[in-house]
Amino acid sequence: MDIPSFEVELVCLFCGSPLKGPVDAQYTSGDLIECNECHELNDYDSVLEVAKEKGIKQVKEKAQEHIQNEFKDLFKEKL
Ligand SMILES: [Zn+2]
Repeated sequence: MDIPSFEVELVCLFCGSPLKGPVDAQYTSGDLIECNECHELNDYDSVLEVAKEKGIKQVKEKAQEHIQNEFKDLFKEKL
């Protein structure tokens, strides 16, 4: 079974634009990330929290898809 990889991007909490910091940027808890689009300051912890929830949702959906496909095959074989 292939384990799909998930990439969750950090998005601005104010305008929804992807947050693109410098490539070597290392954010830590409590940091503020300025949005390139609306120039609002995003709280890193909140941004990460949103990204995590998104990621969990993606994994759940993929898992469900996978299970449904497996069952389809199972039924096909029996009929
Ligand atoms: Zn923004």
